[in-house]
Amino acid sequence: MINIAIDGPAGAGKSTISKKAAAELGYIYIDTGALYRTVGLAVTRKGADLSSPEEIASVLTGDISVELKFIDGEQRMFLNGEDVSNKIRTPEASLAASKVSAVPAVRTYLFDLQKKMAKENNCIMDGRDIGTVVLPDAQVKIFLTASPQARAKRRYKELIEKGMEVKYEDVLSDMIKRDYDDSHRAIAPLKKADDAILCDTSDIDLEQSIELIIRTIRENI
Ligand code: C5P
Repeated sequence: MINIAIDGPAGAGKSTISKKAAAELGYIYIDTGALYRTVGLAVTRKGADLSSPEEIASVLTGDISVELKFIDGEQRMFLNGEDVSNKIRTPEASLAASKVSAVPAVRTYLFDLQKKMAKENNCIMDGRDIGTVVLPDAQVKIFLTASPQARAKRRYKELIEKGMEVKYEDVLSDMIKRDYDDSHRAIAPLKKADDAILCDTSDIDLEQSIELIIRTIRENI
């Protein structure tokens, strides 16, 4: 199977770009952030303390099912049978995802699911540790990034378009906080794999970014 790993910080355009590139190349697109978001939602719903790794881990040993399904070619997330694909897209869910993702038991819990998907499908998988931990043998690894300001501006626009009431300053500070947490955690920190190709999209638009990624994949496969 052909596996492409795309890692990078929040808001670099990973999911939009990966989705388009996957469609163009005929692969499936797997958004691993959605898995962490779903676990984050499960933990929040259980009322567990997000600052307690023990409480977070205990939610996983209980009666919980996290499933990833493809419906009409689109990834959907199911928590205990309920489609939570839209519910995991709020700023609260982002922060919960970031918290639970620092807990080793959560990463172990989601690891096999990610491996299995990659083994069975030609795919583009995006996340934070795909090139470094989940798919160290991926045929192409890309580290997709942009400045915090460029990323916050895009994420702000996206949330406003979805009708959410947010302030740019809050989106930027959430982004910086998440970057810090993601790259400073002890386990699977956000980090460019040594053999990943660096792609910076701060100064190019979405169409150009998609072209850049497709070209990079084709040239390196
Ligand atoms: O990509 P997205 O912003 O949806 O990811 C939500 C959170 O899940 C991130 O802030 C990160 O902490 C975590 N995550 C991770 N490893 C991945 C994907 C996401 O730790 N492979």
